[in-house]
Amino acid sequence: MQMSNFYGRLLVIGKEQFDANQVPRLIGIPAIKNKRCQRCFNKVARQWQLPNGEQYCRWCLQFGRLTTKQMLVTIAEPNSFPIFTGWQWDGTLTPAQQRVVNEIQSHQQNHLIWAVTGAGKTEILFPIIAQALHKQQRICLAAPRIDVILELVPRITAVFPTISTAILYGKAKEPYRYSQLVICTTHQLINFRAAFDLLIIDEIDSFPFANNAMLKYVPKLALKENGRLIAMTATPSYRHLLTFCHRSYLPARFHGFALPTIKRVVVPKWRQLIKNNQLPPVLAKYLKHNGQAQQCLIFVPTIREVALVEKAIQQRFGNLKVMGVSAQDPERIQKVQLMRAQQIQYLVTTTILERGVTLPDIDVIILGADHVNFTSRSLIQIAGRVGRKVSRPTGLVLAIVSQPSWQVWLAQITINWLNYQARKGDKHEL
Ligand SMILES: [Zn+2]
Repeated sequence: MQMSNFYGRLLVIGKEQFDANQVPRLIGIPAIKNKRCQRCFNKVARQWQLPNGEQYCRWCLQFGRLTTKQMLVTIAEPNSFPIFTGWQWDGTLTPAQQRVVNEIQSHQQNHLIWAVTGAGKTEILFPIIAQALHKQQRICLAAPRIDVILELVPRITAVFPTISTAILYGKAKEPYRYSQLVICTTHQLINFRAAFDLLIIDEIDSFPFANNAMLKYVPKLALKENGRLIAMTATPSYRHLLTFCHRSYLPARFHGFALPTIKRVVVPKWRQLIKNNQLPPVLAKYLKHNGQAQQCLIFVPTIREVALVEKAIQQRFGNLKVMGVSAQDPERIQKVQLMRAQQIQYLVTTTILERGVTLPDIDVIILGADHVNFTSRSLIQIAGRVGRKVSRPTGLVLAIVSQPSWQVWLAQITINWLNYQARKGDKHEL
């Protein structure tokens, strides 16, 4: 194996294989030390034992079993990268985007970007990444879901074509290789140790390791001691707003139009209707009126309802192209591609499509928006799918509920507040 594959990367070997003298600069850490897993930094419970008496960590089992008989080995990141020669981007930043870039570049501390969906977060990253490359830094761009990674990769590599880039996610076919830029799912961060000078995490509010020590330690451990974290989100939690001293705020969309507001309709028995192969009147009216005009995502609370709604639409409106998709669907990525290619018009989905996937010109309907599977933050994300195109900056966001609900109300007032801030900000800037 190439030595560079060890740079800032954690590899697991048996304790008996470890010989620091054999490989120069190799650092070995016992996998479980003082009852704490050294990969995910969680406490290892006494009862997590194999029949041979070895203890193992159950927290990070999904990344491969780590036992007391193993070592984690790494080599300190040397930043052996060529001199940065330039990047290719002929776009321009809006005044609001430029302001955020200036705010980030004015210091070297951690920073939170609160940007509404469609504010153009990716463009903000270009000058930030370029600045880090000039300093010969190693950079990681992480996002929680594969869909987001697959959307980011072509955009980033087009701007930085000469930079060695590794793309890492669970089912990636390419083996790991050392690179200056890493674009990966947030899960993959667990395999890095003091690797990055700059770590950018998109959608920090849906970081997958929530509620245990991993959330706290994994990004910290992947960063170098003086490394810098830039976190981005459209729907920050109070905890994130409190943890970051430096924050930038981008309430306006890149095209300057307001976020679409959520329209709420109460249909008390919508669930019974779809069970009986019928549609809520407001949905049927929309489908009849819209026909083959606008593409539409129809969100439902659980997988069970995906097939029911799909069937009910097909039966009543045989001429409409409709499909259903959920996390368990093996053809999930292909179906989103079909939607993007405008081969299908209506896609019935669970919350899996609430983030990341950008379809430029759609309406959304949320059936059962008062169900616990939808939070006010996810409703804001869903509403943010709409009006992404300059030529059609608005669209319908319809929440069908069985009864009035606080989460829909909270999402509605948050969107109104963001729009108010954006209006104020525009006046200030122009
Ligand atoms: Zn662990």
